[in-house]
Order: sequence, then C-alpha cells, then structure tokens
Amino acid sequence: MPKTIAVNAGSSTLKFKLFDMPSENVVAEGIVDRVGFDMGSFTLKYGNGQKYSVEQKFATHQEGIDLLLQKLTELKIINDFSEITGVGHRIVAGGEYFTDSVLIDDDVLDKIESLIEYAPLHQPAHIMGIKAFKKALPNATAVAVFDTSFHAGMPEENYLYSIPYEYYEKYGARRYGAHGTSHRYVAQRAADLLGKPLEELKLITLHLGAGASITAVDHGKSIDTSMGFTPLAGITMATRSGDIDPSLVDFLREKLNVSSADMIDILNKKSGLLGISGISADMRELESSNDHRAELAINIFNNRVIKYVGSYIAEMGGVDGLVFTAGIGENSAETRATVSNAFNYMGIKIDDNKNNVRGKETIVSTDDSSAAVMLIPTNEELMIARDVERFK
Ligand code: ADP
Repeated sequence: MPKTIAVNAGSSTLKFKLFDMPSENVVAEGIVDRVGFDMGSFTLKYGNGQKYSVEQKFATHQEGIDLLLQKLTELKIINDFSEITGVGHRIVAGGEYFTDSVLIDDDVLDKIESLIEYAPLHQPAHIMGIKAFKKALPNATAVAVFDTSFHAGMPEENYLYSIPYEYYEKYGARRYGAHGTSHRYVAQRAADLLGKPLEELKLITLHLGAGASITAVDHGKSIDTSMGFTPLAGITMATRSGDIDPSLVDFLREKLNVSSADMIDILNKKSGLLGISGISADMRELESSNDHRAELAINIFNNRVIKYVGSYIAEMGGVDGLVFTAGIGENSAETRATVSNAFNYMGIKIDDNKNNVRGKETIVSTDDSSAAVMLIPTNEELMIARDVERFK
C-alpha cells in the first residue's frame, strides 16, 4: 500500500510518522533526537508495540534520515523506498507567500529560505529536512504544510499592529499566528462531530499545550488568533509570557542588565506558568499543588484564556462551539470547566460527568448548552499526510 511520511524537522530533532494511505493507519513513528550533539538517539516504534532504538551521533539531519530509511527496510516496515510515495514537511513560517499547503519546487524552497529570519531556529532545519528527503526519495510527492497558512487569510484589521504602516510593508511586521495545522484539524473534526458543515459554524479552537494559542474559526476560516509575529504572544503558556506591555521589556532589560536576546529568552523560557509559580511549567503539577503561587499561575492562565475566548465571541457575534485540544485541553477537565463556566451567563454549560474524560473526541457540554464544548485530540501529522494526498 502507498505510504506517506509526515516530517517535523526541528533545530535538533526530526520527528516522523509513517501512514498507510488512504487508510490513514500509522505504520511507524519515531524521533531522531539531539542532532548536532556529541551523542544523539534514534527511536522507531512500529508494528504491534515493537520498538527499535539506538544511541549514536547524528552530525546532520541527513544522517538521521538515512538511518531511518535504512531501518524501515531492514525491519521490513516497508519492502522498498518506492512504497513511500508522499512526504509532508511541517514548516513553521510561511509568511504571506503561502495561504495553503504547496507542492515543493525550487521556487517554494527559495521562498522558505527567504523566511529564515522569521523563524531562525526552525526554518534552516526544515530546509535540511526537505533536501535530505528529496535526495533519498526523489520520486515522492513532497509537500510543505505551514503552521501559518491557516491564518494567512485573516482580515487586515486583525493581522496588523497599530504601528507605522510602512513597517508592515517594508519588513513584514504583522501577526502571522501559529499552530495553524492543529487549529484547522480540530475545527474540521469538531464540525464532523457536530454533524454540520464547517462553513456554517462559528468555532473557537483552543490549542492548550506547552505552547498555547486560541483561534476564532468563523465559517471555516481563521479570522483571528492569539499568537502574533512570533509564538511568544497571546495567552500565558508553560514558559512563555504571552502578551505583555512592550515598554516592560526594555525596562527589565536595563534593570537586569541583560542583552535583548537574553531578555527574549527570559520571556520564552522562564516566564508563563513556570515564572509565576516558581514551581513548574507543567499544569499537572500546578493542579496538584497547594501552593498559592501555583494557584495564582492557574488563575492567570485561565483569565487570559477567558479574555481571548470572550473577545472572539464578540468578534464573531456568537459561538457554536469551543474546541479544546493539546496537552492541557485534552487532559485538564478543570481548565475546560473553568473556561466554559465563565460563559454560563450566555448559556454555555459543561456537563461535569461528560467532562470527566481525557484524550478522546467527545462533546462535554450539556444537551441544552448554547454552544457545544468539545474535546478533540489534535493530530497535526495526520493533517499533514492528508494534505500530501491532495497533491498525489
Ligand atoms: P507541546 O506544546 O510541547 O506539544 P503538549 O500538547 O504535549 O505540549 O502539552 C504538554 C502540557 O500538557 C504539559 O506541559 C502539561 O501542562 C499538560 N498536561 C499533560 N497532561 C496533563 C494532565 N493530566 N492534566 C493537566 N495538564 C496536563
């Protein structure tokens, strides 16, 4: 059966998932970790719970991909490379060029390269991944799937910042958003679960993981999203600050006597749930702690989520469904309940019994709730594989 591999090349990792298509069965998945370090590792899960892993150095992504392909045949997961007829690459930055997934050619690769300054850690790794797979599987259909493309059609009043307009024109200074593949996937699944066309629904999708973002999906289109020029903006995250007053950045940089890069690092890695609580970046640990600052971190997180949801309800003039996904959204009944209960006043009602669930597609609101509250596990890799199918 023809297979498609979804590839997510990060700065020092390469995650992959191999699907039989069109059945969408997962035949293998795994990760090459710590690429470029003295010692790395490779893990491949396949079959009925079988696993192969090895520790070795991977100087480049190419070396990781070579080992992956070698093991796929050696372990008889595939008979021949020609079975892999599609490769889908997750790409962080698509800028204004890409409003949908595209077949990769030289022009697309040039454009992806021109966007390196928008995602300096990720974009070079994506390019390496594209080139390495092209070399190994020259005949496979190679497709780029962008985190930003779902948001590329937002109205200009929502993607522009209130700064001199020429900075947008000259430097592309605007909101791009992120997690687009996840928001697109869960919005479609939510419509399926409700038995209505996506084009008839007003949905708010809440991707609440370590990185977290919220999107207003109005009649199938992302019209606003909480992440901004970069994924640092929006709601409070595990270690990212989310929205803050930009004046505070320079004020603190001077007080702390650190460089701009170090200040941005603090906002990315030492802030959010971790920074407020001083205990953990993990919602699980905060939920099981009695510490005041753990509770405060949760309260601030919920408060920011509620503010975005409220503003998106206002923007869309109503809402048919709240869709929770990713680590916190799929596992924390408390978060789903607290956020949804903030909208009791407009008839949104959680069913506590139904909400006592994790990790499965389901509606957790009462039958008479004015909007459905749903839990939809995200599946970005499957969305990527489906996008590749469109071009085969
Ligand atoms: P990433 O953005 O890294 O993909 P995930 O979507 O995997 O993140 O989400 C990870 C987060 O999910 C963890 O940091 C943790 O806060 C949260 N999480 C996972 N399981 C639970 C749980 N049982 N209860 C509450 N939060 C959870």
